[in-house]
Amino acid sequence: MFHRALQGFIEVVCGSMFSGKTEELVRRCKRAQIGRQKVQVFKPRIDDRYSKDHVQSHDANRIASIPVDSSRQILELVDDNTRVVGIDEAQFFDEGIVEVANKLAYRGMRVIVAGLDMDFRGQPFGPMPKLLAVAEAVTKLSAVCVVCGAPASRTQRTVGNLDPNSTVAVGAKEMYEARCRFCHEPDTHGEN
Ligand code: ADP
Ligand code: MG
Ligand code: ZN
Repeated sequence: MFHRALQGFIEVVCGSMFSGKTEELVRRCKRAQIGRQKVQVFKPRIDDRYSKDHVQSHDANRIASIPVDSSRQILELVDDNTRVVGIDEAQFFDEGIVEVANKLAYRGMRVIVAGLDMDFRGQPFGPMPKLLAVAEAVTKLSAVCVVCGAPASRTQRTVGNLDPNSTVAVGAKEMYEARCRFCHEPDTHGEN
């Protein structure tokens, strides 16, 4: 079988908080725009830390984005002439995001997905394991451990949560910090 649109593929950018996932997503999308490719960036509406209509890194790099309530909405909102689809904070999406990313790639689009590979307990986060499995290319970034300075792969929650069963507590520097495996305390978050 011959496909006319042979260029579709999925790239995943993962790592802990502060590892530069959003920075990298913004960088890749801006380069595509320089190449005059139409880019659309989506993020879950739950993530409104900085802005409703932009994806923004902790270092203030940003690009316009469309907030959506479900993965299905992305399919409805992607334009036919879009060449690159960026998705930030993918860990917050429903499992349907995997099929959505696959569909867009089969349509010939370059799909760039950024998200946390682990939650603050060190467990695989939402649909990320499946996205990593189906992607053509995976980039795992590290932050800097704020305790010892080693490369940080994990996210430490530094304040307690109202709902102890929830892994979803959107926040930035005030609630989380980057730590390496050995400085990460998965069962401690601000209580002691
Ligand atoms: P992510 O999307 O992965 O959470 P961002 O792209 O938003 O990360 O932010 C990355 C930026 O965060 C870095 O360029 C740096 O300026 C800043 N930063 C703050 N704390 C750290 C840390 N502990 N390790 C690395 N970068 C950090
Ligand atoms: Mg980010
Ligand atoms: Zn450390």
